[in-house]
Amino acid sequence: MTAFLDARTLPDGTTLSPDLAIIGGGPAGISLALALRDSPFSVLLLEGGGLSFDAATQGLYKGARTGEPYVPLEESRLRFLGGSSNHWGGYCRPLDPIDFEERSWVPNSGWPFGIDALKPYFPKAQALVEAGPWLYDDMPRHLGGSDPKAMTLGAGGVYTSFFQFSKTRNDTHGTYFGERYGDDLKAAPRIATWLNAGVTALKLSHDAQRLETLDVATLNGKRFTILADGMSSANRYVGAVTLNGKPLDRVWIGHDEIMRGGTLRFTMSATPNKTWGSSTASRPYSMSGY
Ligand SMILES: Cc1cc2nc3c(=O)[nH]c(=O)nc-3n(C[C@H](O)[C@H](O)[C@H](O)COP(=O)(O)OP(=O)(O)OC[C@H]3O[C@@H](n4cnc5c(N)ncnc54)[C@H](O)[C@@H]3O)c2cc1C
Repeated sequence: MTAFLDARTLPDGTTLSPDLAIIGGGPAGISLALALRDSPFSVLLLEGGGLSFDAATQGLYKGARTGEPYVPLEESRLRFLGGSSNHWGGYCRPLDPIDFEERSWVPNSGWPFGIDALKPYFPKAQALVEAGPWLYDDMPRHLGGSDPKAMTLGAGGVYTSFFQFSKTRNDTHGTYFGERYGDDLKAAPRIATWLNAGVTALKLSHDAQRLETLDVATLNGKRFTILADGMSSANRYVGAVTLNGKPLDRVWIGHDEIMRGGTLRFTMSATPNKTWGSSTASRPYSMSGY
């Protein structure tokens, strides 16, 4: 077993020359690294986060949203080993042939190959997401029922399709790739995994045909500590809160406050402090506007 390496412990200017570098230890990066474990290549897997959530690292995902309204980037995508699979829903389904076709009503649609090019890899992907035997749209037959009848709504229409669920053994959650495959990465002698190693630049050769180097940076090490003084099963209410030694009378803190580093200290008590954080100004902002 080779332990993961924390890039923050490396001296400035450290260089490495692996045969292959994979940027990002989410489902894609981990699957790719494991697919290469028996190849003759040395593989460096660079993961921007650590083994669990860290507010400062997560803050790097802050960015502008365009298009359809959605949850802020830094709240939906997760930046640590396993990536967003650390809170994904586990819904699995193979792509449909139409997903590969150019459709005039879908901007930038059309892949350079069709579904047949990917089909040989589906069983491997199914095993990695641990979604059980490949049934999907054969589900009704498998369950002994008749084929579902499609509603007739003209060409294209509506059809019935089935999802299967990723499920880590003995658990009800979908497969968390970091947790599930961490030991496999460690056991692969040719895969080195660096944590807290954010790739900040890709430098191409003059003819732009080859990636010559990539830069890796770590955060400056500012820490944000949360303490809960006196916490016990009896003391489970918030009595008072300080942020960096000053009283804090609101029930939220800002991203900038976390990024600056500091200490958020809760003093726990056996009875609720009904005056703390109860004024209108203490309330958190509302995403829905209500
Ligand atoms: C709330 C939620 C629910 C979802 N539910 C489902 C579902 O039910 N079914 C489904 O199929 N999909 C679901 N998804 C989508 C699924 O999680 C993603 O498609 C999948 O995680 C993408 O994998 P990835 O490896 O491409 O990227 P990610 O999971 O985003 O992983 C990227 C990795 O790269 C790292 N990284 C980022 N930048 C850098 C950098 N500069 N240097 C080094 N490392 C870096 C990150 O820390 C992260 O670990 C869901 C997503 C969310 C957010």
